[in-house]
Amino acid sequence: IMPNVKLLEAKLKNEYYNVLCAYSGAEALDVIQNERPDLVLLDVMMPEMDGFEVCRRIKENPETEHIPVVMVTALTDSADRVNGLEAGADDFLTKPLDDVALMARVRSLVRLKMTMDEWRARENTATSLGVIDGGADDARKQEPANVLLIEDQDFEAEKIQQTIESDGHMVSVASSGVEALDLINHYLFDVIVMSLDMDHDNDDDGLRFLSHLRSNDKTRSVPILMVSQDDSQKIARGLEIGAHDYIVRPVDKNELRARLKTQIRRRRFQEKLKANYEVSLSMALTDTLTGLFNRRYLNVHMEKLLKAEGERRKSIAVLMFDIDHFKAVNDTHGHTVGDEVLKGFSNRIKGRLRSFDILARTGGEEFVAVLVDVPLEKACYIAERLRRSIAEDPFPASTEEGELSVTTSIGAVYLGTDIAEIDDVLDQVDKHLYEAKEGGRNQVVFADKGKLEPDDYREAPRLKVGE
Ligand code: GH3
Ligand code: MG
Ligand code: MG
Repeated sequence: IMPNVKLLEAKLKNEYYNVLCAYSGAEALDVIQNERPDLVLLDVMMPEMDGFEVCRRIKENPETEHIPVVMVTALTDSADRVNGLEAGADDFLTKPLDDVALMARVRSLVRLKMTMDEWRARENTATSLGVIDGGADDARKQEPANVLLIEDQDFEAEKIQQTIESDGHMVSVASSGVEALDLINHYLFDVIVMSLDMDHDNDDDGLRFLSHLRSNDKTRSVPILMVSQDDSQKIARGLEIGAHDYIVRPVDKNELRARLKTQIRRRRFQEKLKANYEVSLSMALTDTLTGLFNRRYLNVHMEKLLKAEGERRKSIAVLMFDIDHFKAVNDTHGHTVGDEVLKGFSNRIKGRLRSFDILARTGGEEFVAVLVDVPLEKACYIAERLRRSIAEDPFPASTEEGELSVTTSIGAVYLGTDIAEIDDVLDQVDKHLYEAKEGGRNQVVFADKGKLEPDDYREAPRLKVGE
């Protein structure tokens, strides 16, 4: 074993990797725990604790489970490979080590680890901000996966398909590049298993097609498992292009199942991290109590509307709401009731706006609505109707009566398509809102019109199309 390790160390150093060596399982676990390497190359045959056990322990420890482990095993021993994958190994290298394959595997796994680390870092930030529940723990759960198999030899295709289906996954088979592209355009796949040996539409080998899969938006992040003849140059190229793994013909069923399982696990992990990241992004722009947009989003959105040019520059009406005497609601009924009313208020207003209008919560009990592409008279009618919709029905709340009534004051500005600065617009609506409060609350003050008389805005104005 010793000369082997020295040789491997020299090869890796030659490629500018930092190498740490351990000569027993216990020593390895120690080094991994303390140094957190980006990759572990693990010999199956070791004194005292064998490689499988070491691998299992690495993968059981939440602090080290994300570190890729490559098992180094004897060429012929397929049982070893399956054992290793079951212990959680991410990959295999067979002795004697082939330099090209070794470096390609190491590069590809280190690159993948970097990506995963980046996602983990983002997730940690989001978790510490309290935006999401951390942990991609259930990424290992095996749900049925959608697998695309690209293979032109019927006999091989059938064997591979049956093997994959025996684990409960769904397989779509394409026997040419054209067929594969057609499937890719219509369905989402979790993993692609592709032959490197087939004649993909007259390309000399599958590498060009693989490179196409890597650059296609639909398949860029889908793990690819190559099936290939024993051609280490070609396999190494495939790994460089971005395939995640390979299996050499003749395909060993258990090895295929194990490798596929690893890829599916990887895919699930990626998806979970990505979903969490997207949630955290949307959380940064929305308000947790009401689910409405926050002030930050409102600013960005209004800026876009105001700066749009030509046809895309729509008329805009901006309405600012402030619930009347809301402090008294909290003081009399408590904060919980206050929150309930805020939610009911938000839902009611939102339910009465169109999907492309914007409603944001800009302060404790202060909201801003932006109505897009409405004529002035219609905007006045909407504002008055919204005021009335709040005043005329109570909100469900945990008071003795099970409900509570509030009113709202509204300040409004109509922008037409004039050039305007956001801050000026918001200052103006704020001023009119103040006038509505001064004027006795539960009323709308519209720029240039003053207080709207409810009786004047009871019926919807008749509008000509396009007005
Ligand atoms: P006015 O008619 O002049 O608007 O009177 P007001 O009592 O609504 O005035 P003010 O704006 O001073 O008070 C707002 C109150 O809203 C203060 C605070 O108790 C309450 N508030 C702000 N944010 C929240 C929140 O998230 N939840 C609850 N329950 N209350 C909030
Ligand atoms: Mg207020
Ligand atoms: Mg108020």
